[in-house]
Amino acid sequence: MKLKCKKLVKLLNECDKYDKIYENMNLEKSLEVSMVYFNEKRLEKIRLNDNNFYVVMDFDMTITTPDSDNSWSILENPNFMDCNMKKESRLLYEEYYPYELDYTLDFNTKTEFISEWYYKNMDLFYKYGLTHDILINCVKNGNVSFRKGFKEFLFFLYKHNIPVIIVSAGIGNVIYELLNLHNCLFSNVHIISNFINFDNNVMLPFTDEMIHSCNKCIRKLPQDLNNQIRDKDYILLFGDLIEDLQMVPNEDLLRTLSFGFLEKKVDDNLPFYKDSFDVVLTDNSSFYDVQSVFNRLKND
Ligand SMILES: [Mg+2]
Repeated sequence: MKLKCKKLVKLLNECDKYDKIYENMNLEKSLEVSMVYFNEKRLEKIRLNDNNFYVVMDFDMTITTPDSDNSWSILENPNFMDCNMKKESRLLYEEYYPYELDYTLDFNTKTEFISEWYYKNMDLFYKYGLTHDILINCVKNGNVSFRKGFKEFLFFLYKHNIPVIIVSAGIGNVIYELLNLHNCLFSNVHIISNFINFDNNVMLPFTDEMIHSCNKCIRKLPQDLNNQIRDKDYILLFGDLIEDLQMVPNEDLLRTLSFGFLEKKVDDNLPFYKDSFDVVLTDNSSFYDVQSVFNRLKND
């Protein structure tokens, strides 16, 4: 099924009015713009209430707009990354990026290469003296926008006490600071990503297990969060790549309702996305579009 969804023209600043916006949104009164395709049969079977689901989200190009810096590239700020560092970073990209695109490689070999690439990039940050202040500065001066309606959607989830787990192969500190900068670091949000440790402002070598595109999934959740999500019936998953479906374990896919943002090569990729995700949103879709679908699934 295909729907044209309304884009909300006017944003209200007062947080307590967000609920009203959503209540007032109505698919039948939709005006125009983003396309939303969804698996009608699947959606018919799902009924959501405040207690029976939690949310898992990718960060780059899912929460952020397609033209934003990602949580690695935001550090490529000329105030930090000089010519030498840029050159080294470029060489790594040229060496390893082809492996990321190579679907003929066996999974273990690919994982090894990708992991090596991510660690070498972290080592570069360490070698060139990344500090916490520099990171904050890069975040403040970076080119990152959240999709329209994301803040309001996140606030809605917070207000209804629904756990949100952001899973990212990016840099956790950057994600944390961006949410903080946009005043939406709510207490229901948990970030699983690569966090750099700093000692007195100075970066320490990165020695944790790296989360990268081949192993990105929910892991090592704190006990209290585990307790919160253990008995939920459904998971709402948001991603922009097919690989993002791996954020939840295979055994949980049947109870996962997946939303896929598709922005590139839409005509070519649409059939594949429609086969993979339950809901596909194209053409710079917003979280208002997500909320419209969500409203259909609510148990009133
Ligand atoms: Mg992404």
